[in-house]
Amino acid sequence: MLQTRTAVLQAVGAPIVVENLNLLPPRAGELLVKIQAAGVCHSDWHLVSGATQHPLPVALGHEGAGVVVETGAGVTRFQVGDAVCLNWAPACGDCFYCLHASPSLCETYLEPIWAGTLLDGSTRYRRPDGQPVYHYCGLGCFSDYVVVPEQSCVALPGPVPPAVAALIGCAVTTGVGAVLNTAQLRPGSSAAIFGAGGVGMSMVLGARLAGAARILVVDRAPAKAALALRLGATHFVLAGETAVEQIRALTGGRGADYTFEAVGLPEVQELCLAAARPGGTVVLAGLAPMGSSTNLPGAVLTRQEKTVKGSYYGSAHPRRDFPALAAFYREGLLDLDGLVTRTYRLEAINQAYAEMLSGEVVRSVVVFDE
Ligand SMILES: [Zn+2]
Ligand SMILES: [Zn+2]
Repeated sequence: MLQTRTAVLQAVGAPIVVENLNLLPPRAGELLVKIQAAGVCHSDWHLVSGATQHPLPVALGHEGAGVVVETGAGVTRFQVGDAVCLNWAPACGDCFYCLHASPSLCETYLEPIWAGTLLDGSTRYRRPDGQPVYHYCGLGCFSDYVVVPEQSCVALPGPVPPAVAALIGCAVTTGVGAVLNTAQLRPGSSAAIFGAGGVGMSMVLGARLAGAARILVVDRAPAKAALALRLGATHFVLAGETAVEQIRALTGGRGADYTFEAVGLPEVQELCLAAARPGGTVVLAGLAPMGSSTNLPGAVLTRQEKTVKGSYYGSAHPRRDFPALAAFYREGLLDLDGLVTRTYRLEAINQAYAEMLSGEVVRSVVVFDE
């Protein structure tokens, strides 16, 4: 059986452990992928902290890219050697939502994904004693190899560096998609983006691509200002008591046409409502803890005609949007190289998360041997 090194969460609050696991071969409709890069995303940390509940032990990592090394029976869309980007929302293509252009809301993938299995309800990772290890998001790609259903893969035509391809699989699609798909931002408008991590910085790139005239980034880490401005923000606002006032001052006294939340905290979601102008649109893309609630007063929404939109995975259609984002990157329209601020080896996964939490990196990537 194939051996793989995989980052496993054994218990909530415990350090992540790189284990040597066995990997069962791909079944019908599945692929074996050799991972080249996997992004260090906050969503995995929600499992470690307990903000997201998940069966354990679980293989972490849901933002990956690699190369197909084996195909199961009946696979038609992929061949050995294809470069693929992993998709953590393996939509069925046939349900109500898939047929209504909302595959991120697909009715069929959520249940197995949250049970920690692949789409057929089973797992492929095994400890040497035979104990199964669950897959986060049907992936678990902090691993030399993964076995995934073909719906979890999207081929990227043309060369894209693995670290960039990995980010297209989550942060970039979530951030750029929130601007282009969810908000459908109008050229010449103003956008205030709360949170300057991988998703927030991708929103900056998306807002610039869409022709926003003012792009304001709000974060508590002053060190994020330089990169935000380099990626296309026009102003950086330090998070704090006067942030909303400063946003109004920079937007004609009205507030921004669009505000985007990329943190996942109810109090920041409330600031987004306050910072949007009357008639403006608030887009909530950060994942708030399960069971949390946000005070979005109806009295304000009605009288000021504000619109609040949720955005899950950038309201994206991965098979349509991943290749499009890769093409924007290749044409120089999206500076995705600029998003990758640090790389690590798999053994340093705990250090990677510690440095993400300290706010010193925007987006880091675990890289694997060729
Ligand atoms: Zn992610
Ligand atoms: Zn579906």
